Amino acid sequence: MLTQKETKTCQLCNKPLKGRSDKKFCDDYCRASFNNDLKSAANNFVRNVNNALGKNRRILGSLIPDEHSNVKANQDKLLQMGFQFKYHTHNYIALNGNHYFYCYEYGYLQLENNWYLIVRRHED
Ligand SMILES: [Zn+2]
Repeated sequence: MLTQKETKTCQLCNKPLKGRSDKKFCDDYCRASFNNDLKSAANNFVRNVNNALGKNRRILGSLIPDEHSNVKANQDKLLQMGFQFKYHTHNYIALNGNHYFYCYEYGYLQLENNWYLIVRRHED
């Protein structure tokens, strides 16, 4: 038989736990603090992603002149402006196979030599 002597500790403060073996926290205070930390980490992540998407949208929008429906932009310029390619809201594959990534109503299509075509939403 394996005799494993395992001392469980509180997930928040790491103090050894006494009593029921299914306990995870020393008391309600540690439990509540732990859950609040989890929640705020999740909230931070959501906030950061939302901020990045909003920034991407503003950058794409700022590049397209009002009277145009698309414009070409270089990857360096986009990165310099703070554009983060990993964040997009959805994508669209055109009939010709072109793969557009969208940040809300603005999209981009990768062209050759690190150029991108920035577009406004395809109206349905
Ligand atoms: Zn504790």
